[in-house]
Amino acid sequence: MLSFWEKNSFLNYDVIIIGSGILGLSVASELSEKFPEKNILILEKGILPTGASTKNAGFACFGSLTEILADFKNKGEDETLKLVYDRLAGIEILRKRLTDEKTGYENNGGYELITEKDLSKLEEINEVNDKLKSLIGNNVFEISNEKIPEFGFDAGKVKALVYSKYESQVDTGELMKNYIKYVNERGVTILTGCEVKEVQIKNSKPEVVVSHNVFHEEIKFSCEKVLVCANAYTTKIFPEIKVNPGRGQVLVTKPIDGLRLKGVFHYDEGFYYFRNYKDRIIFGGGRNLDFENEESFQFRYNFKIIDDLENKLVNMILPAEEFEVDMIWTGIMGFTENKLPLIKDIDSKIISAISCNGMGVALSGYLAKKVIKKYF
Ligand SMILES: Cc1cc2nc3c(=O)[nH]c(=O)nc-3n(C[C@H](O)[C@H](O)[C@H](O)COP(=O)(O)OP(=O)(O)OC[C@H]3O[C@@H](n4cnc5c(N)ncnc54)[C@H](O)[C@@H]3O)c2cc1C
Repeated sequence: MLSFWEKNSFLNYDVIIIGSGILGLSVASELSEKFPEKNILILEKGILPTGASTKNAGFACFGSLTEILADFKNKGEDETLKLVYDRLAGIEILRKRLTDEKTGYENNGGYELITEKDLSKLEEINEVNDKLKSLIGNNVFEISNEKIPEFGFDAGKVKALVYSKYESQVDTGELMKNYIKYVNERGVTILTGCEVKEVQIKNSKPEVVVSHNVFHEEIKFSCEKVLVCANAYTTKIFPEIKVNPGRGQVLVTKPIDGLRLKGVFHYDEGFYYFRNYKDRIIFGGGRNLDFENEESFQFRYNFKIIDDLENKLVNMILPAEEFEVDMIWTGIMGFTENKLPLIKDIDSKIISAISCNGMGVALSGYLAKKVIKKYF
């Protein structure tokens, strides 16, 4: 049971944010920067953030050529260009807020590997560049086939390479550690091991219910506004919010002597992605091999996908190098039906902001800005 002191000092806030992923931390930062007097609490169910933000591959990217072309078809050109704009703006917010040193931000460029089936898409490169020019001012994508032998890819499989100098990489671990530190320094309280079970409105104020992991009794936190940043898990608290989990499998190699790859690399509309981390390769993706099983909240390995990633490393990406896989892990993303981020009032005092999809490193900063501008 709680003491008088705990009830007096720990349970009342101006704003409670559910989830300490990159979006929850961005929302807390934006709010505390604009309203330093506000008393803000983040409730996190894991000991560490436990969704996508500490599990991702650390691409600071806004969409590869084939991904943007696919988005033009599925989301329409206007929505796609808006998203690209928001991602670019988000990266700049993150860099300014945390500094490149604290995020491990490095601009080594990005490359898309084009295999036989996507070769015809290269015909659209000029058109895409023209459309992106209004946002970036220069050509974004250029063909860079001379790099295929330089990086050591199997030229029988990688038919072309599309380069973008605007893509960068971060150190996901350092970024998240320093983001937590940043919000702490701004006076935001983070309580971990606090899984929110429900949010009720009591006497016209939101009451956020958490089960105490020692006393096994309900703790009720009270506030003026709740911001729900629980991504895929939002649907477990608010079933009316339709968001599907999408698991991602990732592997990292042991250090590779003389590794030639540097930068971020994608192929197949962004479904596969790899990068160097110092002299290792981090490689993830392949959800499209098994969408059904990867629509899951369970942090489980899918060896159909992991085997495919390893095969692609051996046969296409590092055909001439000896390497060993050091470890594998999984993370859970959240996807809305239309694959767009969703900001929605569940109640006038409960707002959800979710679904950065596969690009939350870039998108979260600007999405958070929009949320705070609209509701505060
Ligand atoms: C394998 C993988 C690779 C990726 N690679 C990249 C990449 O290279 N670049 C990129 O931009 N994006 C990438 N992404 C996507 C990116 O990680 C996400 O878009 C982003 O992290 C989403 O952030 P979020 O804060 O919305 O969600 P999350 O990080 O999922 O945060 C939600 C938080 O809410 C907490 N929570 C859930 N339910 C509750 C509850 N009931 N009570 C309290 N807390 C709760 C969770 O524990 C979690 O910490 C990748 C994702 C994965 C899985």
